[in-house]
Amino acid sequence: MQPYRHILIAADFSEHGQVVAERAKDLADRYQAQLSILHVVDNLPVTDSIYGPIIPFDTDITEQLIDASKEKLNQMGEQLGIPAERRWVEVGSPKVEIVRVAEEEGVDLIVVGSHSRRGLGILLGSTASSVILHAKCDTLAVRLVED
Ligand code: AMP
Repeated sequence: MQPYRHILIAADFSEHGQVVAERAKDLADRYQAQLSILHVVDNLPVTDSIYGPIIPFDTDITEQLIDASKEKLNQMGEQLGIPAERRWVEVGSPKVEIVRVAEEEGVDLIVVGSHSRRGLGILLGSTASSVILHAKCDTLAVRLVED
């Protein structure tokens, strides 16, 4: 069995994100694997029935979100010892971008958080379940316990 060589943290900057990052860091240390980190700035279009059609996400706001994300990613990267060139911010759908970046960068393990879901959350599906379904490499879904 091949050891993991390149592990990717999918970071959403939520309060539980540290648990996901620490699990990935521990695995990277054990396997002596490269560790990378990705945050996706969600560019979901805003819809409002008053205006009718889809209103595209404001590009200035997107720029601000990218800058803020880079700052947070740099903080996490420093903490985890991830070099600057492996701290990535992308814009788009998190489900799609995590899978795409993992494939393009030769990642062999993606680490995501997984919430227990009820009601609408189950119907909509989570990022973790979509990544597990579509990624070409292994995915570790770290169970996040809600307080
Ligand atoms: P959720 O879809 O909220 O259940 O998120 C589950 C996990 O997917 C999170 O713990 C992260 O690991 C990952 N994730 C969700 N949103 C993003 C995002 N915007 N960028 C990177 N990873 C994300």
